[in-house]
Amino acid sequence: MTLKIHDTLRRKKVDFEPRDEANVRLYVCGPTVYDLAHIGNARPVVVFDVLSRLLRRLYPKVTYVRNITDVDDKINAAAKESGETIQVITERTTKIFHQDMAALGALDPDHEPRATEHIEGMIALIEKLLKSGNAYEAEGHVLFDVPSMPDYGRLSKLNRDELVAGARVEVAPYKRDPADFILWKPSTDDLPGWDSPWGRGRPGWHLECSVMSEKFLGPEFDIHGGGQDLIFPHHENEIAQSTCTGDAGFAKYWMHNGYLMAEGEKMSKSLGNFYTVHDLLDEFPGEAIRLALLKTHYRQPLDFTKSGLASAKAELDRFYTAIRISRQFTTTRVVDVPEEIVIELCDDLDTPMALRRLHDITSDLNNSTAPDTEKDLDRISMLAGNLLAGCSLLGLLQQDPKDWFKWQPASAAEGGLDDDAIDALITERNTARADKDFARSDEIRDQLAADGVLLEDGPDGTTWKRG
Ligand SMILES: [Zn+2]
Repeated sequence: MTLKIHDTLRRKKVDFEPRDEANVRLYVCGPTVYDLAHIGNARPVVVFDVLSRLLRRLYPKVTYVRNITDVDDKINAAAKESGETIQVITERTTKIFHQDMAALGALDPDHEPRATEHIEGMIALIEKLLKSGNAYEAEGHVLFDVPSMPDYGRLSKLNRDELVAGARVEVAPYKRDPADFILWKPSTDDLPGWDSPWGRGRPGWHLECSVMSEKFLGPEFDIHGGGQDLIFPHHENEIAQSTCTGDAGFAKYWMHNGYLMAEGEKMSKSLGNFYTVHDLLDEFPGEAIRLALLKTHYRQPLDFTKSGLASAKAELDRFYTAIRISRQFTTTRVVDVPEEIVIELCDDLDTPMALRRLHDITSDLNNSTAPDTEKDLDRISMLAGNLLAGCSLLGLLQQDPKDWFKWQPASAAEGGLDDDAIDALITERNTARADKDFARSDEIRDQLAADGVLLEDGPDGTTWKRG
């Protein structure tokens, strides 16, 4: 099956032909760890998680690298504001980022390099760029000399005036050209800094991805991904740093996810629509957030809303219910991902179409209840297997249905019955039933129902779900 992807560089859908089929290599720009990840930060993580799952299905080996930016002026500003050390902020934020993304079902990348661990490589790249005449030193800074690279701007396709305007340069007398960008800048004693041939300082942001992608994927790899907002200047500058000397091809394909709005507007703290993943996870299961992100094609702008999240949860309820009911009749067969799901995802990650197919399978499954022949049972077993396998390629339906229906928002968990208390009451009810004390058994059922817990007595005992 041929994977087609939309390549930002060529501005069209192209057949994906890896440089080396034995090791497909993917690099995605990761978070700057100074604050909790918002839902816009989560979009590329989830999108490229689906891509990496698909690539792993199509090729024997995939190497996926996503970096962590742990040196940045935003981090310095956060430290100044809170009085904490930079390390405390970056460690804590990285840890919460990992927890949040795991809750969204994103698998860990194969490598997750941190910028501060690769300063030496960054200094070496700057020295190389100075030697090739593509960079220059000025007042303790080292800058990339944009006019030295005739095809600078080929990814963003901006003209010279747009490049200069978009660079949003501060007044910087040391720049030879307004489009030049910083590779290295001096640090005062209160800021993080490393010794370099140009004095104590720190790298410009763009540098780290050129260095870390080469370190883990080599000078030429397959796909570079990220949010659309990174095309310029970040990715343009990565290309400049990595290819201006003409000895490396860097990324063969560029993939970018579209913008995200919330409740119809640009997210902002003042509008009250600034959703962090951490807060959303108090209100919705991680899988529902993941599904809400995948219901829109990754290149389209996405309007993320609470009502959209509620309907994503309802869709997952539908999938899980179908699996749960099927298991009252038969076990779920372990099957390969249905071809129709792979076909949709191979069409530039068409997740909305793949989801439509999964709903079709669910409808078939729901129409197959009350089986009375061996053949019916076989069909249910197969359809449930198709649904599970198809969802797994999207990173959905990753829990046992029993656990899915136990989920509750954080606000309800306070003061409500916890899972252990519910299990204890069910045990007590089983004993009452065995003793034919139906008054007590009904009382327990009613008590649980009043707490929103519904019991279902089946052949394998009693299961429960939160209503
Ligand atoms: Zn990057």
